[in-house]
Amino acid sequence: LGLFWQSLPVRCTGRLFYAPVCWHSSSMPELPEVETSRSGIEPHIVGQEIVNVTIRERRLRWPVSEDLDNRLPGQTIVSVDRRAKYLLINTTGGTAILHLGMSGHVSIVPRDAPAGIHDHVDIGLASGHALRLRDPRRFGSLHFTENPTTHWLLKELGPEPLGDEFGGDYLWRKSRGRRVAVKPFIMNANIVVGVGNIYASESLFIAGINPKRAAGRISLPRYEALADAIRSELQRAIRAGGTTHRDYYGGFGEAGWFQQELDVYGREDEPCHRCNRPVTAIVQGQRATYYCKHCQT
Ligand code: ZN
Repeated sequence: LGLFWQSLPVRCTGRLFYAPVCWHSSSMPELPEVETSRSGIEPHIVGQEIVNVTIRERRLRWPVSEDLDNRLPGQTIVSVDRRAKYLLINTTGGTAILHLGMSGHVSIVPRDAPAGIHDHVDIGLASGHALRLRDPRRFGSLHFTENPTTHWLLKELGPEPLGDEFGGDYLWRKSRGRRVAVKPFIMNANIVVGVGNIYASESLFIAGINPKRAAGRISLPRYEALADAIRSELQRAIRAGGTTHRDYYGGFGEAGWFQQELDVYGREDEPCHRCNRPVTAIVQGQRATYYCKHCQT
């Protein structure tokens, strides 16, 4: 499969640092980076009045609506939430729904900081700073809505993996009668959001479940182990992501989460951490899957 991770120097907001880059595979921000972004920007933007919105490029994954620059100025930011991999910037007059796409990140910059070629959106704040979206590949998106819970991007999403609705019994109930393999099942955002490819492989290893097993043929206790593994992997990644630098949040350069040791992901033919037999790599639904044939049944 030839997936590998490598560190490359990346220049960001004027400083050089080492960011991990994944070749041949998505380096998309996952739930933990988005949560790191959320907690990173929160203290800088909550309570701030929006003084202006500058959109230099509307052609993101979906065109950025003029509602955004028309409706946000004059409003005050009351909270920043995360739903799946969306950041919800809630204001007194509506919500901006931001997705970082494949390569996006947000940062807090002085309002007059010169914009780079990929700095597509600035939300200017009364503090003299701006929330800046940089997105070189423009797979991110930005929407304005008065009611995020009914917005088309969000309304079909399954529960949050770290929320109360999610758990082993939920997965067990949802999977009855389903022949789909368990790995694509847990990666389906209509079932549960935020379980990316790495987390799916790692969680199935921890729970000892073969990723090819039919979702409908897994017992409740095994789903309880799997739900626990998903939660603990995501929480571990969020903690790791929270330890990186202060003026740069999420996305392409956010180092924290996969510096943690991985058990199977990206370790084809390397010894399993439990049984020492070689880790197997397969492709499921066009995504790389890594597992131990001996430990995962
Ligand atoms: Zn093993």
